Amino acid sequence: GRLRNGLKRTRSGLTEGLANVFVGRKRLDDEMLEELETRLLSADMGIEAAQTVLDGLIEKLGRSELRDGSVVLEALQDEIAKVLKPVEQPLQIDLSRQPFVILTVGVNGAGKTTTIGKLASRYQQQGYSVMIAAGDTFRAAAVEQLKEWGEQINCPVVAQATGADSASVVYDAYEAARARGVDILIADTAGRLHTQGNLMEELRKIRRVLSRQDSSSPHETLLVLDGGNGQNALAQAEKFGEAVNVSGLAVTKLDGTARGGVLLALAQRLQVPVRYVGVGEGVDDLRTFNAKEFATALAS
Ligand code: GDP
Repeated sequence: GRLRNGLKRTRSGLTEGLANVFVGRKRLDDEMLEELETRLLSADMGIEAAQTVLDGLIEKLGRSELRDGSVVLEALQDEIAKVLKPVEQPLQIDLSRQPFVILTVGVNGAGKTTTIGKLASRYQQQGYSVMIAAGDTFRAAAVEQLKEWGEQINCPVVAQATGADSASVVYDAYEAARARGVDILIADTAGRLHTQGNLMEELRKIRRVLSRQDSSSPHETLLVLDGGNGQNALAQAEKFGEAVNVSGLAVTKLDGTARGGVLLALAQRLQVPVRYVGVGEGVDDLRTFNAKEFATALAS
């Protein structure tokens, strides 16, 4: 359904004419394997993950005669799902933490604001009360954008003036959420400061302030990555991972890219749970990550 439609372009990168690869082939020969490898790499899977998928395919199908191409397609989906399965770990909201705090981090343009809006809406629909902290005090537009989301989905947004201390905004929001009995606090953070070092220091400070209130907080540090960035997303994830304890990923813009294979590279290299995938700009265009579903959408 929606994920499949959303991933249309991802799919075409990997699978445009995929069926043709199998036509008239009686076995998994070198030519077919090479063609598959090219496609996996062009979907930005990276060499390691592509190799894992192909090795799995060979192990599963061997070189014996194949009934038809659909056997290879199904096996390909299975092998992709196998790589992704370990990072299929949906975020569990622990209501004994009040509020449950989700700190979102990521570079500007990754889709952080949009993901926060989508998440807040989703949790509200699930019956949770939600509050948003406009912690990106570096960009006036970020605060405005969050306020717009807040109005659209009827969710309170705690904000201060541009240039305010980000940690103090998050602290205020935490206090307000606690006082009002809010279930989930989602905090935005800056995606860029004057220097990379400043940014990472600010993120660490926010985490310190939060953990002073509740030692288990933030309960989730969600890194938002632009899936269209392909292998660059991997480098970003490594950078953020070194500075803050990233506990989950939201990979956005998988609808507008032929590079959805990057999820396999992320899964293999980082082993950080993938919580959500973004497949559009709308409020409902966020999916809980499911390995099998994603693999099927990617290769079909
Ligand atoms: P931020 O700078 O990280 O806060 O990024 P934004 O949330 O402002 O997103 C940047 C742009 O990407 C906006 O135009 C969003 O509408 C768009 N965007 C975010 N997520 C997705 C997605 O999953 N799919 C598509 N197609 N666009 C997205």
